[in-house]
Amino acid sequence: MSIAFIDWGGTHFRCVVEGCEPFSFEKSSADIDIVYELETLFSKFGHISRVGISFAGQVHNNIILSAPNISATNIDLNAYFPSKSIFVQNDLKCAALAEAAYFKEDNIGVLYVGTGLGSAYIENGRLICGESNVAGEIGHIPYRTTGEKCGCGKDNCLELTASGSGLIKMAKTANLDAKTIDELLKSEEGKKIVEEFVGGVGYGASLIVTMLNPKILVIGGGIIKTNEWLVGEIKEYVGKNGFKKSVDTCEIKLSSLENGSLEGARLLAL
Ligand SMILES: [Zn+2]
Repeated sequence: MSIAFIDWGGTHFRCVVEGCEPFSFEKSSADIDIVYELETLFSKFGHISRVGISFAGQVHNNIILSAPNISATNIDLNAYFPSKSIFVQNDLKCAALAEAAYFKEDNIGVLYVGTGLGSAYIENGRLICGESNVAGEIGHIPYRTTGEKCGCGKDNCLELTASGSGLIKMAKTANLDAKTIDELLKSEEGKKIVEEFVGGVGYGASLIVTMLNPKILVIGGGIIKTNEWLVGEIKEYVGKNGFKKSVDTCEIKLSSLENGSLEGARLLAL
């Protein structure tokens, strides 16, 4: 049996086929037509029977609903491809499945900082999903008004401060050309933006540790991967600001997975 698994993130679209000759490809997430991509994949590899998709947006009962950073709404892939089994889950929930398997831990939270800011939790081995599978959308809790608009339409989401897209928006507003944290740290004004960002991510991490009391909080995502030193800053922030009883029993760890969301999509397809 061959399986395919896909990480459809805010910036990149990655697909891997397993169980036959190894095959993978990566494209920009902009303008992805998922039905066309799967049609092409199935015509090349007819023996694929199961597909796992990690999607950086809202998903319910395997149906892609919407996303702040991707143009895709109300897509039921199993209706398009009835002979295949297609499993779709939110990218952070996929990452939580993968991190829980990696750390062999049943009470675990994940906070990923990439294009957006997302979180998910597993309690006693089960994903916390909520009524409509949107539990963990920490990027859209109110934090501070930035003068920018979030993909969800509000102007005070935590993601506007504590994410890669937030950093770029804040730099633009300050008329800085910088696109990375290293570039921002070269100027005084850029340093202030990085401080705001670190405070936002630390706030998100404190919130998870205080509210959900996980044994492990895994910090990952593209921005963390290229700036691992941020984990130390986050630990310090949580140590100072989290609820002590929760902080004392929680280990904050850097993700060791190459791509937690993609690995989670693989677990969905198995
Ligand atoms: Zn938002």
